[in-house]
Amino acid sequence: MTVREYSHYIAGAYEAWSGETVERRSPANGEPVARYASGTPADIDRAVEAARKAFESGVWSELSGMERAEVLNRLADLIQENFDRLVRIEVEETGKPIRFARGDINGTVGLTRYAASLGMQMAGTTYTNLGRDRTALIMREPVGVVGLVTPWNFPALILMQKVPFALAAGCAVVVKPSEFTSGSALEIAALASKAGLPDGVFNVVSGKGSIVGQRLTDHPGVDFISFTGSTRVGRNVIESSAKNIVKTSMELGGKSANIVFADADLDAAVDGALMGVFFNNGECCVSGSRLFVQSTVADDFIARVARRASELKVGDPFDDKTDIGAMIDENHFGKVLDFVKSGVAEGAKLLTGGEAAKLGAGHYVQPTVFDHVTPSMTIFQEEIFGPVLSVTRFDTLDEVIGLANDSQYGLSNYVWSKNIDTVMTVSKRLKSGWVQANTIIDGAPQLPLTGVKGSGFGYEMGQAGFEEFTQLKTLFLHTGPRQPVFGS
Ligand code: NDP
Repeated sequence: MTVREYSHYIAGAYEAWSGETVERRSPANGEPVARYASGTPADIDRAVEAARKAFESGVWSELSGMERAEVLNRLADLIQENFDRLVRIEVEETGKPIRFARGDINGTVGLTRYAASLGMQMAGTTYTNLGRDRTALIMREPVGVVGLVTPWNFPALILMQKVPFALAAGCAVVVKPSEFTSGSALEIAALASKAGLPDGVFNVVSGKGSIVGQRLTDHPGVDFISFTGSTRVGRNVIESSAKNIVKTSMELGGKSANIVFADADLDAAVDGALMGVFFNNGECCVSGSRLFVQSTVADDFIARVARRASELKVGDPFDDKTDIGAMIDENHFGKVLDFVKSGVAEGAKLLTGGEAAKLGAGHYVQPTVFDHVTPSMTIFQEEIFGPVLSVTRFDTLDEVIGLANDSQYGLSNYVWSKNIDTVMTVSKRLKSGWVQANTIIDGAPQLPLTGVKGSGFGYEMGQAGFEEFTQLKTLFLHTGPRQPVFGS
């Protein structure tokens, strides 16, 4: 297997190698797959400087929306042309099943094309009703130099939930990808140059979060920080932003409820329960990791979920039939198994799984289902970020709303019912940025993602996500003779 090597991508080119490196080993088999430059604060400073220079020069920020859209659409074409390579990078670095990696790269193409269309529509407002001689233009401008910090679970997809939206608005970006999964960001930045993006508009610095991530989010030359990652690190980023009085958008952790009423299409809901927690190895911010099932159908429904879970194929992420691949690294793998142990110790009933799946040198966890989980248990409250499902039974709508909202998080929730009254009532009363009904972990570039409570604030994707990368400037215009206020 060839080991891919990358230095930072700054001012339109990969830099020469210097200093320390980070080696990435495949979580599926322990083999080395990539080597990255391990950045320093000075690397971030250089990248921010390149972004500032590009932004202020107007070489990108002053192009028309149409011109920017042309470059972004060419980038989407190039991602499609490099589809197999990008899919391979995602699988090698994350350990996710290849069919989900294909979905991710397809997703980046859709996001890029959609963002391109938004750039063409970037508009403000005009007030002509303020009285004779008075007009106001509320102009929408790019926010400036943007720092983007991304996690390891959807390296390319989350990158592209941010980058094309920022670029469509005319911003210049500095990206800090996760140290585990920097390959796709470094490749896509080079593709953007090939698509015609001017040098310095899209920079990527690899390395450790505590060093380069910290410097980027502390940097006084950054105008806006868009962060996706854990609530713990997100808090730290908010503190940094307070020092420089910089706007932030925070896409943080989740512990979503997946609620199944007795009148649902139960076959679809069983599949939804599996998708909810086993998609992307369970390493998904919007996992439906807390399943609530109405008591009248619970015994049969939960038995079906547990049986289907036990039949899922765990193993080689490059095998098209694999359902669950490898956990991102040994440390995380250990944490997931510790959560499983806490479930057993605190009295939940283990229905299936509960152990490592022993497959060579990889970090695999068996699909795991716990029944009779209560709100006082750790596995009910904490984001596990692995293939571990907590099941709780309920009787009434009021009871399940209380259970679902009993969480520090509020990212996404799901409801299954054929009764529109139930769907609407539950959707309105759930405290989360997203609710999906009779589907799960679905989405489209047009739909904004946001969280409440510990899941953060600010928008990603959709018109609202685009507007995060803009700011308003009001021009109040007086024409004709002006009445003196202090006499003539
Ligand atoms: P982390 O918070 O550990 O890391 C996220 C990013 O922050 C990484 O690039 C990391 O770098 C970087 N980082 C680490 N320390 C600092 C620091 N001090 N200052 C600035 N940046 C830093 O999250 P994970 O990568 O473990 O991702 C999983 C988490 O992300 C889960 O909680 C998940 O729910 C959340 N998430 C939320 C989403 C949403 O849309 N709300 C979507 C996807 C994930 P490095 O990796 O090099 O340490």
